[in-house]
Amino acid sequence: MNGAAHGSGRPRLLALDIGGTKIGWSLMDGREPCAEPGASGRIATLADEGGAAVAERIRSLVADVVGRLGPVSGVAAASAGVVDPRTGAIVSATNTMPGWGGTPLGDILREASGAPVRVLNDVHAHGLGEALAGAGRDHDTVLSVAVGTGIGGALVDRGRVLTGGHHVAGHVGHIHHHAGARMACSCGRSGHIEAFCSGSGIAAWYEARRADGDPRADDARALQALADGGHPLARACFVESARALGECLGSLANCVDPSIIIISGSMTRSGAAWWDGLREGYAASAMTPVAPTPLVVGSLGDDAPLIGAAANFENTADRNAGGAPAGTEE
Ligand SMILES: [Zn+2]
Repeated sequence: MNGAAHGSGRPRLLALDIGGTKIGWSLMDGREPCAEPGASGRIATLADEGGAAVAERIRSLVADVVGRLGPVSGVAAASAGVVDPRTGAIVSATNTMPGWGGTPLGDILREASGAPVRVLNDVHAHGLGEALAGAGRDHDTVLSVAVGTGIGGALVDRGRVLTGGHHVAGHVGHIHHHAGARMACSCGRSGHIEAFCSGSGIAAWYEARRADGDPRADDARALQALADGGHPLARACFVESARALGECLGSLANCVDPSIIIISGSMTRSGAAWWDGLREGYAASAMTPVAPTPLVVGSLGDDAPLIGAAANFENTADRNAGGAPAGTEE
């Protein structure tokens, strides 16, 4: 079978993780990234060069990998932006990847690889990876939340990601909380938790609250240094935003009843006060039956979206009962 021989006898997939700062890739041994030297790597996205330039960089990366390492039986991609799962096209994207919206990513990957392609949103892929192979592997219903520069999430039930009616399910960052009611969100609304609980949001929240005598903090890292040094307002921003995020997670748990909540992203490294605030907020909002739900940190790091993308490829192939994955026939 062309390209299928890879020790395990399973399909030889090329997995991609396309984000705002880097594009990671790996040949996959089943759902595991290949450990062989030269079978994985990463390049800079250079997102500010625009969507067309990023697409061209991806096209040549895939052509180069397939040329060097031989044919693959499929390309499993995780990408920033809202993804149309039937075609793999990017429906829309935020300003972290200007001009990425509208990119026919599925077509580009198919042309470059000569193989069937499945594309999944990167936050969905991350959640699916953690649910199947990471911190959620012993759980049926997993809520995964990534709290980094922005806030995103995925609800995974029995190995499937809920994508919703408009492919945008899991936009956890765009839940309203009164504590940040005056903060402008990246989506154009206000009071959403991304606007004051994410890495960029918490720095903006401090800036909006600080008096003339308070030092500046240009990003979450600078704010963390202020908080660690005992600055009262910087500390309050961490504790209060974590508490608000926890309250929203409690409300989400009341709605969807996950058996575990997995938190990933740079804000999880904010220290004990942040985690305490998160747990206090969760406890204040969660109903009694969901109160014991564990809140844990993700365990797979950068491998999570690659594993999730590969699982998504397999899931979809399964559904097509031995045929090519949907969306590859046109
Ligand atoms: Zn929003």
